[in-house]
Amino acid sequence: MLVSAKEMLQKAKEGKYAVGQFNINNLEWTKAILQTAQELNSPVILGVSEGAGKYMAGYKTIVGMVNGMIEGLGITVPVALHLDHGSYEGCLKCVEAGFSSIMFDGSHYPIEENVEKTRELVKICEEKGMSLEAEVGSIGGEEDGVVGAGECADPMECKQVADLGVTMLAAGIGNIHGKYPANWKGLSFETLEAISEQTKDMPLVLHGGTGIPADMIKKAISLGVAKINVNTECQLAFAEATRKYIEAGKDLEGKGFDPRKLLAPGVEAIKETVKEKMELFGSVNKA
Ligand SMILES: [Zn+2]
Repeated sequence: MLVSAKEMLQKAKEGKYAVGQFNINNLEWTKAILQTAQELNSPVILGVSEGAGKYMAGYKTIVGMVNGMIEGLGITVPVALHLDHGSYEGCLKCVEAGFSSIMFDGSHYPIEENVEKTRELVKICEEKGMSLEAEVGSIGGEEDGVVGAGECADPMECKQVADLGVTMLAAGIGNIHGKYPANWKGLSFETLEAISEQTKDMPLVLHGGTGIPADMIKKAISLGVAKINVNTECQLAFAEATRKYIEAGKDLEGKGFDPRKLLAPGVEAIKETVKEKMELFGSVNKA
């Protein structure tokens, strides 16, 4: 059964570790992440962007697939199904479809409008027992065509949004989506500390987990980050393993063209990446 991310993140914040959000794209992705979480006895959040939602034929398809898999694979660790960077309309659709968690990304609105829309969604999520992630200060890089500059959030605005009663808060601290450029200045721990001070017990979310050095990840967790989003890294690992399989001509040997064989190395690579991250984030055996 899907659960809200509230309890797992409050426990993570208290226990000074972080729960990984791994974005899914299809059945293979979902299965690899769920199996790894179960194997490591770790809570997990499955992230779905609006683009991936469209790709997988709509939110209802995803809810059906994930619920079926939890039952079919005997998954007993806590699993949250979460909309990543949702629009207001996308959030309502996911509530309707049976997601257990949503992120409303109102960071591109003026703060008053972000607050107003977040306030409305807090009410809806409370009624449904769902968790809600809000965002203050846009996160750099490109995600589904939305390009942010990687700014640092205003800690007072973070407090204002946290006080609305959201479950977790994503705040820009110099992090960006996708691969980090060579001249990246690193995370702003000064900003993170100031946000933590203002928002107290609120689990903070670090987006753009791909390529942030391990020591920075650990420091961010020690300063209040309880959820870390990983997306690009699984994609790169999957692509590399698949390319190797084809370049080695394995699809031409016997029934190597069978998708269950052709996609297997990529699935293994996703599992390896998820395992590495869960170990780094400290969520192993915290289910
Ligand atoms: Zn993000």
